[in-house]
Amino acid sequence: MQLVTRDQLGWPSSAAPDQATTLGVKVHYEGTPVSTDLQADHSQCVQEVKDIRESHLANRQENYSDIAYNYLACVHGVLFEGRGIGKRTGANGNQDLNRAHYAICGLVGSDGLTEPTPELLSAIRDGIDLLQANGAGGEIRGHRDGYATDCPGEPLYRWVQAGAPRPGSTSTPQPSEPPADHPARYQVTINGLQYGNGAHGDHVTAVGQALVSQGFGSHYQVGPSPDWSDADTLNYRDFQLSLGYQGQDADGVPGESSLRQLLGYLPGGVPAFPGRQWFQPGAHNDYVAQLGRQLVARGYGQHYRVGAGPDWGEADRANVADFQRAQGWSGSDADGYPGPETWRRLWS
Ligand SMILES: [Zn+2]
Ligand SMILES: [Zn+2]
Repeated sequence: MQLVTRDQLGWPSSAAPDQATTLGVKVHYEGTPVSTDLQADHSQCVQEVKDIRESHLANRQENYSDIAYNYLACVHGVLFEGRGIGKRTGANGNQDLNRAHYAICGLVGSDGLTEPTPELLSAIRDGIDLLQANGAGGEIRGHRDGYATDCPGEPLYRWVQAGAPRPGSTSTPQPSEPPADHPARYQVTINGLQYGNGAHGDHVTAVGQALVSQGFGSHYQVGPSPDWSDADTLNYRDFQLSLGYQGQDADGVPGESSLRQLLGYLPGGVPAFPGRQWFQPGAHNDYVAQLGRQLVARGYGQHYRVGAGPDWGEADRANVADFQRAQGWSGSDADGYPGPETWRRLWS
């Protein structure tokens, strides 16, 4: 393990609250574009980690006492000590989630440097092992498990779903196309609703009915039900294959875009408006990213250059203003800052 301590980063001991035990560890990524320059120059990784801490300390909305993660890992296999052992994370979305799991961030992002290297996965694994030797439970999850966010991105999330195996280890299989007789058995949360083995609800029935109506019901013995079973997974897999999805993308567990194509809309209704305070200059949070993705989905993303992200910017404001003007609003009603009515209409 190549560990860089807080001391070596020049940081004081963490002022974050103590947290002796958790259910496990959640894996994160940066959520923003990350420069590929990091790959060529490890000193830029060190600077990136320092910048993340600075931005967290400057974030008034979250009122962080320290960098939010317990550890961070770079593509060169170096593990950086964030809050470290025995400290509650600030990264999982809310205090209940922060108490439940520690947090490790892989230094890859939504654009640019997006693919974790084997060295990065090894370093995250080092951090997981370290935390599990010091009070963390056995669960390994992604930030998106239980919270509405893309984090930790598809490549890292697939690795998490595979059990976060140490690269090169032969005992744990690498993620690969699941054979039809071993259906994938994990859940995803899309728009606040669970899908995948064991998920339950009317929305599960709705997926089954849509599959049947489009000719993908061959694995049902009794037909769609509110309980997601292997038959749902196998039917959904047939649907994904018909869309041209391959490998892990066709494992029978829905993603947002295949679900939208199947149903023609995304179930889950209007998410609760989180409050105006999350959408202001300098804001950095998942609500901003959620808003941005919905703007893009509704065709109001023209001011984004690299896509929606968690940092509130002029592009977000301009896109929201476009949407507001399209409602026939003007003046302060179309100032580009979302309120409850803008939010409701965006999801309606
Ligand atoms: Zn995250
Ligand atoms: Zn590095």
